[in-house]
Amino acid sequence: MKRDQEIFDLIEKEHQRQLKGIELIASENFVSDEVMEAMGSYLTNKYAEGYPGKRYYGGCGVVDQVEQLAIDRVCKLFGAEYANVQPHSGAQANAAVLLAVLNPGDTFLGLNLAHGGHLSHGSAVNTSGILYKAVGYDLNPETGRVDYDQMEKLALENKPKLIIGGGSAYSREWDYKRMREIADKVGALLMIDMAHPAGLIAAGLLDNPVKYAHIVTSTTHKTLRGPRGGIILMGKDFENPWGLTTPKGQVKMMSQLLNSAVFPGQQGGPLEHVIAAKAVAFGEALQPEFKEWAAQVQKNAKVLADELTRRGFTIVSGGTDNHSMLVDLRSKYPELTGKVAENALVAADITVNKNMVPFDSRSAFQTSGIRLGTPAITTRGAKEDLMVLIAELIEEVLNDPENEEVIANVRARVNETMKNYPLFAY
Ligand code: PLP
Repeated sequence: MKRDQEIFDLIEKEHQRQLKGIELIASENFVSDEVMEAMGSYLTNKYAEGYPGKRYYGGCGVVDQVEQLAIDRVCKLFGAEYANVQPHSGAQANAAVLLAVLNPGDTFLGLNLAHGGHLSHGSAVNTSGILYKAVGYDLNPETGRVDYDQMEKLALENKPKLIIGGGSAYSREWDYKRMREIADKVGALLMIDMAHPAGLIAAGLLDNPVKYAHIVTSTTHKTLRGPRGGIILMGKDFENPWGLTTPKGQVKMMSQLLNSAVFPGQQGGPLEHVIAAKAVAFGEALQPEFKEWAAQVQKNAKVLADELTRRGFTIVSGGTDNHSMLVDLRSKYPELTGKVAENALVAADITVNKNMVPFDSRSAFQTSGIRLGTPAITTRGAKEDLMVLIAELIEEVLNDPENEEVIANVRARVNETMKNYPLFAY
C-alpha cells in the first residue's frame, strides 16, 4: 500500500510545532514514548464490548489482561476500590456518571462555567445542561475561590441529587471534606472531577478526593500525562447501593450502575489500545520520578504566577496551588481581550488559551483572561529559571500585541530556547 504522505507530512508539521514552541495550555502534556507506542499498537484492531471476563466478543483473553492491569494500577495510584477505565474522554466519564445517578430533569450542582467549571458540569449546550437541571455555584468575588457558603445555601434551596466539584480553570485546592458535609446534609451524592490536578493528586501533592467523594472522574491526558481518555473511580463508598433502583425496581450497586452507564449506556467497544496506554501512564505515575516531576510542575506554576504578579498581572485568587493559573488581563491592559492576547502569543510560538475570568464582562469568544499551565513545559525539563523568562516574554508580547517585529523577535528567542528542551525529558 502507498504511504499516505499527505497526512504524515501534517503529523510531522505538528511535531515540529510542538518541538519549537513553549506549550502553556494547562490541559495539555507530552506523553512518553511508551504511552505513544501502546496507543499505536495492534490492540487498536480488537473489539471488546463488555468488561474483563464478561465480553460480547471472542478473542479477548489478552485485552482482558491489559484492561485489568489498567484497573489495578489506577486503583493503587489513587487508593480506589473501583475503577472503570473505558470512558473515551473526560466528558464521557462525566456523562456516564450523570446517566447512572440522575433521571432526566433531576437537579445537580456544578461550578459555573464562567467561573472555571467544565462544559460537562451543567453548561446549557452540553447534555449535562440539556437533560438535567443544572444549578451553578460561583467563586467568591473577593477571594476568587469557591464560595462554599453559597454552595451550601444553593444545596439547601435546590435539594440536588448530585453535587459536582472540580473545574477547568481553577488554581486552588478544593475543600472536599466540606463538600461531602454539604452533600450529606442534603442527601446528595458527591462527584469530584479531578481531571486537571489528577497528576498532582497521584503524587500526593494535593488532597485526594477519592477519600471524600462517592465518585471521582478524571481525564488521563492532563497532569496524569497519559493518552487522551477518561476514568471513573470510587473509594470506600463503592459497594453501597445508595437506594438507586432500575426501572424494573431492582436495587443496584453503584459499581454496576456506573459500568452499565459507560457500556452500553454511553459507548460501544472500548479503545483497548488507549486503555493499554492508560496502564502505561498509571505505571509511570506510580514511579518515584513522577512525584519529582509533579512537584516541579507545581513549583514552576508558583514561580510563573509570582513573576507575572511582580510584573503587574493579576492572577485570579492571587496565585496557584496546582499546575494552572487564570490571568485577568483587565488590570494591566484594560483594552486587551483574551482573544487578541492568545493570537499574539501563539504567533510568538507561546501557546495559551483565552479564558473567561469570573464576572467577565466580555463573551467566551473574546474574554478578559488567558489560562496558563506548567505540565507540558515541565515534561520538557523546564525549571524555575525558564518560568522567569516566560513571564518576561509574555509581557513583551502583550505590551504591544500587534507589533510584528516584537512577535518575530520573541518567536526567535522561544525557538532558540526550546532547542535545549527535548520533547520528553524524563
Ligand atoms: N473535566 C474537566 C474538569 C476538564 O477540564 C475537561 C477538559 O478540559 C474535561 C472534563 C473533558 O475532558 P475531554 O476533553 O477528554 O472530554
